[in-house]
This record gives sequence, C-alpha cells and structure tokens, in this order.
Amino acid sequence: MSLGEFDLIARYFARHAARGDVLLGIGDDAAVIATPADRRLVIAMDTIVEGVHFPVGTAAADIGYRALAVNLSDLAAMGAEPAWMTLSLSLPESEAQWVAAFAQGLFELADLHGVALIGGDTVRGPMVITVQVAGYVETDRWLTRSGAKEGDLIFVSGSVGEAAAGLSVIQQSGPGAAASRSLRQRFLRPQPRVELGRHLRMFATAAMDISDGLLTDLDKLCAASNCGAEVDVGALPISAAMREMFDEASCVDYALAGGDDYEIMFTVRPAQVALVPAGCTRIGAITKGKDVRCIRDGLPVTVRRRGYDHFATKDSAP
Ligand code: ADP
Ligand code: MG
Repeated sequence: MSLGEFDLIARYFARHAARGDVLLGIGDDAAVIATPADRRLVIAMDTIVEGVHFPVGTAAADIGYRALAVNLSDLAAMGAEPAWMTLSLSLPESEAQWVAAFAQGLFELADLHGVALIGGDTVRGPMVITVQVAGYVETDRWLTRSGAKEGDLIFVSGSVGEAAAGLSVIQQSGPGAAASRSLRQRFLRPQPRVELGRHLRMFATAAMDISDGLLTDLDKLCAASNCGAEVDVGALPISAAMREMFDEASCVDYALAGGDDYEIMFTVRPAQVALVPAGCTRIGAITKGKDVRCIRDGLPVTVRRRGYDHFATKDSAP
C-alpha cells in the first residue's frame, strides 16, 4: 500500500514523546524543547544513502536502526547523553510495509536510549536518510578530538574490522555460517557506545568514534590534537569470528582500514589507565610529530589501506 505524506507521518512517526522536556513535538511547524540552564546541548547529524552507506535491498528495519546508531555514536564520542532526534526521509516510494519496518528499527534503538523523535521532513527522491540527534553534557565536561598529548595511550573499545568484513560478506552473499552472521550484524546493527562515552568524559584526553577506518580516523584525531601516533598492529582487538573467516593479513586490513565499526577510540594519560573499563584494548601511544605509524613487534610496518573517503580520487576502502 502506498501512503500520502501526512498519513505516513501520522501513522508511523507521530508517537507521543515520552520525555517531559518535549513541550511541542511532531505536528506543528517546529518542535519546542525545554533546556536546563546547567547543561550544554550537543548536536550531530549523519546522512546515509542507499548504495553508498548500505547495500540496495538492506532490510528496512536495519536501515532505520542504523540511521540512528551512527548518530548516537557521534554523541557517544562527545561524552553526551542523547535526548532527541529529527528525521529527514527521502524515499522513492511510500510503501507502508517498508516505512513500518523502518520506523520499528529506528524506535527500537531510540527507546533503548530514551531518544524522542520531535520532527522531520518527508520527500520523494532517491533513498537518503538524515538523522539529527541532540543531547546533553554537563557544563565543561565534553570530549573532543583535540586533547591528546605526547605519551598518552591509545585505546579502542570492543573489536575492530568486523563491520567492514560483515559488509563484504553481505556483498558476496557468503555462507550463512554463525561467524558470518555475527559479522553481518556488526554492519547492520552498530551498537553506539553511549555508556562508555559517558564514563570516558571523566578522564579521557581525546575521543572519536571509528566510522571511516581506524587509521584514517586516528589521522583526524592526531591532526586535531597536533600530534602523531604509533599503533601496534599486533595489539589490535580482532574477534574470533573474524579470525575464523579471514586470514591474518585480511583481518589486519579490515581492522586498520575498515569503517563502520562505531567503536570509540580514545586517549588516556598513563596515570589514568586504571580508569579504562574492561572491554577496551590498548593499541598504541601518542607521539610527537605528525605521523601516524604502525609497528609490529617493535618494528615499523607499511599498511596497505588506511580507510574510506567519499571524495577520494581513488577508492581506498578495503
Ligand atoms: P512543514 O511543511 O511546515 O515543514 P511538514 O508537513 O513537512 O511541515 O511536517 C509536518 C510535521 O511532521 C512537522 O512537525 C514535522 O516536523 C513532522 N515530520 C515530517 N516528516 C517527518 C518525519 N519523517 N519524521 C518525523 N516527523 C516528521
Ligand atoms: Mg512549516
């Protein structure tokens, strides 16, 4: 069934916002929010495009989930607590079943984090989905990319490379083995590290989420912090599922250059290491200079690929 714009919004998106700070939600020309004086607003936006950020034919519920997950990951990297979102939907057609599944995936994750949908826009066009999220941090307590200093240790949460490996499994429609299923889930349902970000804001010197690839993103962190880094390739957290499906060289390629993991990379002064929670792995250290280098067993190694850039002249994705 095909729906008109107003029916579609009313039926699938205009839920009652379960937050007291939403004074006026969906249905008027704009939303009105009550903001406390003692906190700061943190705002991020991310767009996902069919055929660019997810393969054509991806399940609608996964697209909805992912559209919000990539945004919550940005707030997590700032140490913020998410609160609201707006949604811009450009769809080639308004197919009720598709929109229902999309909304179900979106709200599944929104409800996990207490995020209210407070507005948006709906247009006909190629499939492009933009979510904007906003949340809070306490005054003067947010994380940035720019605070890393020489001697800081670099950590990453969870494991890296699985989402890119999962995408390659999806694209080759590989076998449905358990290992491949867990990799595909890593791509389709990224788990934003909101709680970790809230904890890190107390002591991390710098943080960012990994969306384009570990090395590319570390380049950005180092540029913002005006420093260099050394990454120990042998220390990378590579999951058992990855090792089961790929050889060592491919695992390292995915871990260093594969995007879409939405793990948090952060730096910590050596004296604060005890505050780093379980489940995070030390992968290197901040150095002086500007280079981001890789080592293995103490010796320099050259890396084949560093990450993804939408506007790179040559595709450098794995
Ligand atoms: P206007 O023409 O004044 O911009 P719209 O007709 O586009 O208003 O939207 C009507 C209401 O529905 C607004 O509150 C808007 O924020 C909301 N809305 C439109 N599309 C979406 C969407 N995809 N998700 C959530 N809210 C939406
Ligand atoms: Mg209007």
